[in-house]
Amino acid sequence: MTKSDSSNEWLDTVAHDLRTPINLVSGCLDVIQNVGPLNEKQTHYLNRAFAGLKRMEHLIARLKDISWVDSSVPLELSEINLSDMVAEAIDLLLEAAEQKEVNVRTNIASDITTIHVDAARIVQVIDNLLSNAIKYNRQGGTVVIGATKDTDSVRVMVQDTGMGIAADDQPHVFDRFFRAPEGVRLKIEGSGLGLAITQGIIQRHGGNIWVESEPNVGSTFYFTLPLVVNSDHSTE
Ligand code: ADP
Repeated sequence: MTKSDSSNEWLDTVAHDLRTPINLVSGCLDVIQNVGPLNEKQTHYLNRAFAGLKRMEHLIARLKDISWVDSSVPLELSEINLSDMVAEAIDLLLEAAEQKEVNVRTNIASDITTIHVDAARIVQVIDNLLSNAIKYNRQGGTVVIGATKDTDSVRVMVQDTGMGIAADDQPHVFDRFFRAPEGVRLKIEGSGLGLAITQGIIQRHGGNIWVESEPNVGSTFYFTLPLVVNSDHSTE
């Protein structure tokens, strides 16, 4: 067993073991909901308990993602259409965008058709960058996701008109569990793991990721992916 295999095994075990009590609590809450009728106060606290469980499930999923990033489990590569992938990600975020009245636009160069990637992981990257661009945006703001082709890579950018990131915080946004103070102050929900996972996925494809940002103006995240991913750039 390699060092990274053993160090991520405990994380996998913890994530797996946490599922048992969560399923138990979830089952009990379902029963409470069904034995009703519940009064207004009981319904309120039941809904809070469900929301807490959902957050816990989200955190467990992120821990499993971190474990994958640190592992040497191979990428599952296939040819995927980038525009379809982006459209799919936007579709899943329509409700969040509508709630914030954020207009999401795409600008993908016509010479980019398919890319050769681990599709499930790259969908996760796009989803994470887009959902951040929406949740850290201002009401009525804009998000643009664009892509251009270079000689041997594709470059994707996700641009928003949101709160931006202070210069001092920018070097830390890809650190595990880092959250900039402004988002915490505004009680914007998050785990501080999304960008660390995103960076790990891009690096395992042999690409790069970086951010340019100005407070109160907005942020642009960029990532590159080689046109042909022929080896897994895992932490090994
Ligand atoms: P979180 O779950 O907190 O959103 P991420 O790892 O995705 O975690 O992001 C880390 C931190 O980087 C966020 O808490 C936020 O402070 C900052 N951040 C990420 N994306 C943006 C963005 N588009 N605009 C402003 N700040 C951002």
